[in-house]
Amino acid sequence: MSIEQSRRLVTELPGPKANELATRQAQYVSPAVASSTPTFAAQAFGGIIEDVDGNRLIDLGAGIAVTSVGAAHPKVVRAVQDQVAHFTHTCFMVTPYEGYVQLAEKLDQLVPIAGQTRTVLLNSGAEAVENAVKIARAHTGRQAVAAFDHAYHGRTTLTMALTAKNMPYKDSFGPFAPEVYRVPGSYPYRDGLDGAQAAEQAIARLETQVGAKNLAAVMMEPVQGEGGFIVPAEGFLPRIVQWCRDHGIVFIADEVQTGFARTGAMFASEIEGIEPDLITMAKGIAGGMPLSAVTGRAEIMDSVHAGGLGGTYGGNPPAVAAALAAIEVYEDEQLAAKAQRIEEIITAFFDDPRIGEIRGRGAMMALELVHPETKQPDAPLAKKVAAEAGKQGVVTLTCGTYGNIIRFLPPLVIDEDLLREGLGVVADALKNA
Ligand SMILES: *Cc1c(COP(=O)(O)O)cnc(C)c1O
Repeated sequence: MSIEQSRRLVTELPGPKANELATRQAQYVSPAVASSTPTFAAQAFGGIIEDVDGNRLIDLGAGIAVTSVGAAHPKVVRAVQDQVAHFTHTCFMVTPYEGYVQLAEKLDQLVPIAGQTRTVLLNSGAEAVENAVKIARAHTGRQAVAAFDHAYHGRTTLTMALTAKNMPYKDSFGPFAPEVYRVPGSYPYRDGLDGAQAAEQAIARLETQVGAKNLAAVMMEPVQGEGGFIVPAEGFLPRIVQWCRDHGIVFIADEVQTGFARTGAMFASEIEGIEPDLITMAKGIAGGMPLSAVTGRAEIMDSVHAGGLGGTYGGNPPAVAAALAAIEVYEDEQLAAKAQRIEEIITAFFDDPRIGEIRGRGAMMALELVHPETKQPDAPLAKKVAAEAGKQGVVTLTCGTYGNIIRFLPPLVIDEDLLREGLGVVADALKNA
């Protein structure tokens, strides 16, 4: 199956069938699960989502950086079909199977960690983050965990504590997990600090308020995702990682969003020149199937007692088969290079005084919208632009601590002309807003 790779609007959005579904959604689905695109998907392929009324939308969101290989890559489809025809589940903790081992072996080759690694497979990004913290605590015998301003690490109790932003992720859901400490990171557009200065600020805060010897782990996204696609100043991360090494603190790179070719390398840690102790992965790992992983240095991973990690579905066979197929696609179709190309196209595309900064890495790019004179965040503008683009058949997302970021996370397989058309719609929406 494939879909013609062109935008087409045959109804207003939402169309009649989408409207009908929206009515049923309002009646039966928790309103807390809010959808941002004003229609319902029927099928998706490459850079296109076709809706229930036959409209074809340009996908600049990839289901939040998940379907990097497309939402129905033939290799992923075949691998999943083949696996479910053999068996859907045995539970790896009960009866193991080869795919899990094969994927762990593949991740050992892929991650920027020297020496032997080991892997545990789980279901979601948040679950990977939780497990990374458990591993770091078991290894160090310490409890404190540090995270940064603008961080996003998930929505479970522990990961809400690690996540910085109150609305919509934390508000009214406390109390939060203890022993989580937040310090300033590096946000060059707003803090004006170079990498060394920002790192010294964070380290000083940790030393005075937590104490290095109490810290089990420091966790950071190499490019902060939900917080606003913030690329830390050069040298920030290497300095933080070095400080962690010096004090026996486990450095966890949360690559749930940045991983799997998204930023122009298989992992963003490679671009930053850092070697994490543990890496958390999810989103792009399995071509759209729910799967996550923690891969880390063997001597750290081996600190946890047998039976201490796991879960019923962790490393579910069809998801693992999808991951093995997706990884083949990343390599065969050289999607990291495609992500670099997407960065070039997006960087050169926009020119508007209300764009305070165009930033990001690879196919993880954002426009920070501001009032030009004051650099004050302009969240209503971001909302307006995303909504108008949506009506015109282009799926984009907003993000950022201040809600003023338009972000682009296209599937890495998107046709360049289709990408340009989608960006053009966003540029027009910005011009007219
Ligand atoms: C999305 C995300 C998570 C949470 O992943 P889920 O699969 O939604 O639980 C954690 N960390 C980062 C950096 C993310 O972008």
